[in-house]
Amino acid sequence: MASADDAPILAVRGLTRRFGGVIAVDDCSFALTPHRVWGLIGPNGSGKTTLFNLLSGVLAPNAGQIVFKGQNVAGWPSHRITALGLGRTFQITRLFHGMTVLENMRVAARAADPARVAARADELIEFVGLNALRDEYAGNLSYGQQKLIEFMRILMTEPDVILLDEPFAGVNPVMENKLVDLIHTLLAQGKTFLITDHEMRLVMSLCERVLVLDYGHLIAEGPPAAIQADERVIEAYFGRRRSAAPSPPTPLPGGEGSSSGPLSQGERAGDEGIRGPLSPWERAGGEGASRPPSGSREE
Ligand code: ADP
Ligand code: MG
Repeated sequence: MASADDAPILAVRGLTRRFGGVIAVDDCSFALTPHRVWGLIGPNGSGKTTLFNLLSGVLAPNAGQIVFKGQNVAGWPSHRITALGLGRTFQITRLFHGMTVLENMRVAARAADPARVAARADELIEFVGLNALRDEYAGNLSYGQQKLIEFMRILMTEPDVILLDEPFAGVNPVMENKLVDLIHTLLAQGKTFLITDHEMRLVMSLCERVLVLDYGHLIAEGPPAAIQADERVIEAYFGRRRSAAPSPPTPLPGGEGSSSGPLSQGERAGDEGIRGPLSPWERAGGEGASRPPSGSREE
């Protein structure tokens, strides 16, 4: 039976973004139904961060539509998209290191009422158990604590859809559990998530449905079990030896991202094949876990 929950909250049609000769996001179409955790996976350089940048208004698309809550927001500036209820974190956190935790929270707010802003900031700092650090400079927090505060800053904007770009990269297992708990709590409050991460074990356990990008193309969409069994996905992640790989688009000489873009796709787990006692997905999780956060490009 169709219900309001089946109507997409965010739908993308023909979304395309080029950087010189590189098509980072290539004619992507998908629809996110609300109140779910959606995963977005794909090898390094497959276009995940670019897609996030398009959805959140950091970048404008060359073509295509982004329909959020019934409005085509493609090309809108980020503050307007934020105001409509979409929040996102960055691979590299964007806290103000010279401000305290509390100040970082308060400046992120959209609401004009100072009393409401202050109350919400207090509530969220408490919610993540960082009360003791509320007057500490953000620059003095551990990496994991900074990630938590970055996440809570998004909540200050009262989003309905939350995009998390590699939230688990570089965080320890305790912080990892804490993030997972937070996501579950917020999901129960009605939020919708789109999460990208290299930590396959977490993505597959956390997400109800997963989208897969490869060279900017959406090559699969479905529940985690189907994604893990999908031949195109296995091929994209594990099966493609460098010699057998299709020629990736050539980045412009000296262009940004030329070192971590298409080239790294040829260098990914493919060379190991899919033999061995662990499933490829388990090994992908292990490899991803040790990978440092990448993508300073967006800074
Ligand atoms: P992912 O997040 O999946 O690792 P990205 O979206 O960062 O992938 O990158 C997708 C492709 O777009 C890569 O080839 C990358 O080099 C290129 N790219 C991304 N951002 C830029 C940019 N600002 N300028 C030039 N090329 C870029
Ligand atoms: Mg990225």
